[in-house]
Amino acid sequence: MNRIIDFHTHRLDAAAALIAVDPRQFNPQPGQFYSVGFHPWHDVDTLTDSDFALLEQCASHPQVLAIGETGLDRIRGARLDIQIPVFVRHLLLAHQLGLPVVVHNVRATQDLLTCRHQAHLDDVPLAIHGVRGNAHVARTLLDAGCYLSFGPVFNPEALLATPPDRILLETDDCPVSIDEVAARVAAALGQTAAQVTTTAAGNARRLLQLP
Ligand SMILES: [Zn+2]
Repeated sequence: MNRIIDFHTHRLDAAAALIAVDPRQFNPQPGQFYSVGFHPWHDVDTLTDSDFALLEQCASHPQVLAIGETGLDRIRGARLDIQIPVFVRHLLLAHQLGLPVVVHNVRATQDLLTCRHQAHLDDVPLAIHGVRGNAHVARTLLDAGCYLSFGPVFNPEALLATPPDRILLETDDCPVSIDEVAARVAAALGQTAAQVTTTAAGNARRLLQLP
């Protein structure tokens, strides 16, 4: 069944997951789903047009349901003025292919939203992954139409500020299981893990346009 519970992971053998891979490592396996993109930590200052051509080629694969992980990081990686055009190229491709974007955001909430707006790409859906910010940050992103993906560590007030139809779950690169993430999110919401899992899977299905 086409069910995605873990919205963002880098583990290639993850089940019911959207697996984020660099296009240069894209090697699709039967029954798996992927997002493809250039992570802002990984040499974005050396990317060439042929790297972006490869990204576009991978993004058109039927098992690729989103663009990413891409985004902006004010703490780590290349300078922001180098990261920004790379991020915008991902947004343009997402727009062209009608796909959402899995976004890495470290202290760059306004930068991300400004980039999208200035590129006239406000209609490109963003899923902000690994949300750890406070409720104010969450509301800013929610007001901009973003989905928020929560992992093992999150700010409970940000989670409580998020409408149920915008919540996603993820393991990212940590060893915690998606069931444990669901249990932690459920505890903060006063729900069962099964309820949270069903909600998050429904949201992922809608955002990723799964049948
Ligand atoms: Zn990640």
